[in-house]
Amino acid sequence: MKERIVILGSGESGVGAALLAKSKGFDVFVTDKNSIPNSYRKELIEAKIEFEEGQHSMDSILSASTVVKSPGIPSTSDVVLQIKRSGIPIISEIEFAYKYVSPSTRFIAITGSNGKTTTTLLTYHIAQTLGWNVGLAGNIGTSLARQIVDTAHDVYIVELSSFQLDDMYAFHPSVAVLLNITPDHLDRYEYQFEKYIQSKFRITQQLTEKDTFIYYAEDAAIQSVLSAYLIPAKKWSIALQANSNAAAYSTKDQFNFPIISTSSVWDSKLLPIQGKHNQLNAMAAILAVHALGASIEESFSAAQSFKNAPHRLEKVGVLNGALYVNDSKATNVDSVWYALDATPAPIVWIAGGVDKGNDYSTLRPFIEGKVKTLISLNKDHSKLLAGVGPYISSIIEVNSMEEAIEKAMTLTEEGDTVLLSPACASFDLFKNYEDRGNQFRSIVQRHIRPL
Ligand code: ADP
Repeated sequence: MKERIVILGSGESGVGAALLAKSKGFDVFVTDKNSIPNSYRKELIEAKIEFEEGQHSMDSILSASTVVKSPGIPSTSDVVLQIKRSGIPIISEIEFAYKYVSPSTRFIAITGSNGKTTTTLLTYHIAQTLGWNVGLAGNIGTSLARQIVDTAHDVYIVELSSFQLDDMYAFHPSVAVLLNITPDHLDRYEYQFEKYIQSKFRITQQLTEKDTFIYYAEDAAIQSVLSAYLIPAKKWSIALQANSNAAAYSTKDQFNFPIISTSSVWDSKLLPIQGKHNQLNAMAAILAVHALGASIEESFSAAQSFKNAPHRLEKVGVLNGALYVNDSKATNVDSVWYALDATPAPIVWIAGGVDKGNDYSTLRPFIEGKVKTLISLNKDHSKLLAGVGPYISSIIEVNSMEEAIEKAMTLTEEGDTVLLSPACASFDLFKNYEDRGNQFRSIVQRHIRPL
């Protein structure tokens, strides 16, 4: 009898895993509690893969030899608990796909609470510009499993969330990047920050002395546990202060790479992504490709033609002399910290949404020194106002993006910046962070160019 693989979840990673499993001759069953998106349902039918939607039939699931779980399904959900009780191994799609890559394939794996997508895309851009045969996988775009079926690459740049890392064991990257660890998603970690930190450090679990571990040296959570992990890989740290032990650091507008030379500097203003957080992301990306043989010079020059994904400090347009910036992806306090730091005063700050238990105190110096008005964009204003109210006197409450921008237009003067950087999830008033950012962009652009 054929070995049975059950796939939990039918998004890009689930369907990719199903196609790969089918191509390897397994008996495959896909199960999703919600409805399966049309294009994916069609693919499953065409590939003659058995599936169900709107339910989980435990009998069909518990006959699996392995379960591949999509990262969106919490490990505390009923179905996962039952699978765990029955002793069936649960792995992520990347872990599954990894079994089928050729041994010469190399991986650059990137994680962190913030900056994963930017750093992964930048690393990919540099590698592509250098002419590498490189693929992009993980949280972004086409799943690794599907790429293994279609076209295999020599190198993959993989964005990994903690949810994926939780179900990864044998996956062995040549380069592991840990950008930062700040409290996020704690609802999935029994509200224990230590458990979330452990999850992030799983990126190092297979590293050997031939590999490279790149991490942010000044991150408090990383510092607090680093010595407890025996990581045999080369350790290359990045920093935002002069530090000759670091592989790379930046001071003001200059990058330094002590790993190759203590005398040469690179001008960070030449890069299309700005702010201290992006300096860290850029150093991490440049070092990651350097670890696989690229020179710092050629990587830095390739980085200059990078274009970041939308909703990340995206300049949307100028209206009555004020610049409008869409940072809708900033769904936690740490990312807003970097956004406020990178934005010149005076700022009209649009924030709010579903507060995940935020502590706003670290933002105080920016709010008091730079923000002239807060536009609270919320269904329920109480949490945000309780958090930042003590630091600011000018607050306007709105509950639609349209209203937020109308108010912003009446408040701004030439030279101001209107910054949407919400510190919160979006699903009180929007479908997701993309919807929130798209509304912001299209309303601003409509005012710039009336129809
Ligand atoms: P992720 O994929 O980890 O969510 P993104 O690159 O999509 O990261 O960025 C998410 C948000 O965090 C954006 O608002 C961005 O400006 C901010 N950000 C990007 N890089 C960093 C970093 N290294 N540290 C803190 N915030 C960052």
